[in-house]
Amino acid sequence: MTPVIAETREELAAARARVRGTLALVPTMGALHEGHRSLIRRARRSADAVAVSIFVNPLQFGPGEDFDRYPRTFATDVEACAAEGADIVFAPGREVMYPAEPQVTVKSGPMGARVEGASRPGHFDGMLTVVLKLFHLVLPDIAVFGEKDAQQLAMIRRMVTDLNVPVEIVGGPTVREPDGLALSSRNRYLSDGERRTALALSRALRAGADAVAGGPGAIRDAARAVLDKAAAAEPPLELDYLALVDPATFTEVADARTGPAVLAVAGRVGTTHLIDNVPLHLGAPKEH
Ligand code: AMP
Repeated sequence: MTPVIAETREELAAARARVRGTLALVPTMGALHEGHRSLIRRARRSADAVAVSIFVNPLQFGPGEDFDRYPRTFATDVEACAAEGADIVFAPGREVMYPAEPQVTVKSGPMGARVEGASRPGHFDGMLTVVLKLFHLVLPDIAVFGEKDAQQLAMIRRMVTDLNVPVEIVGGPTVREPDGLALSSRNRYLSDGERRTALALSRALRAGADAVAGGPGAIRDAARAVLDKAAAAEPPLELDYLALVDPATFTEVADARTGPAVLAVAGRVGTTHLIDNVPLHLGAPKEH
């Protein structure tokens, strides 16, 4: 089945009006891979129809980031959407999303300045602004996001709570290569050597997860040891952060903490910015 491709607000409104039953939205920046495809499948299980948006949002890129060279692979993206049974592909141009420089935007607050927000000032404001705009344009009942961007998912959950946005937010698990590297549209920038170094991110998270019985200190130490080695590798990993945080607020967890946590890591290899995370349960094992 070929999805309807909507590039303007009018085309989108017409496609939206033809949806019978519930609609799930999967927002993306394109260059679709198996991680995105798993979210489209997740969306199909939760709703009668699925819309995928493809828009590289200039508002969430900082100066000097990779907006201009971000991969744009529209034809194969549409094929992927068709193969996964998406009903609508919304692919607006910049002039459709931002006919004028927006004056009123969403503020991500203190949480948006932590962890990933500290290394990318303004990123979460731009991301939340475009997500809220997409919600208003597409009018979905449900929206599906990847746990790969754990802070993004937490911020969106917080936005729909704080601003009473009537959209149910669903998270989908991170899809990885067999060797552990989290799938990312940015992986295609990596040379073979850079990719080898980049593997340290997921390896550090696994080492942290393996040390969970020792508590937050042991988790951080185990992950840090892997990252330190990668910092001395050739090409090196330049670490942005390693953080063990509360999944709802993204504040660092204290040593005595029990319950859910997220171990998050980000760094640069060459000119490529990569992030990854793993959910953990601290303290007494969960009862089933
Ligand atoms: P992006 O196109 O990178 O903005 O991502 C669009 C959506 O796909 C976001 O909700 C991401 O969290 C999600 N996503 C990206 N990579 C993965 C992955 N490896 N596994 C699962 N979801 C992902």
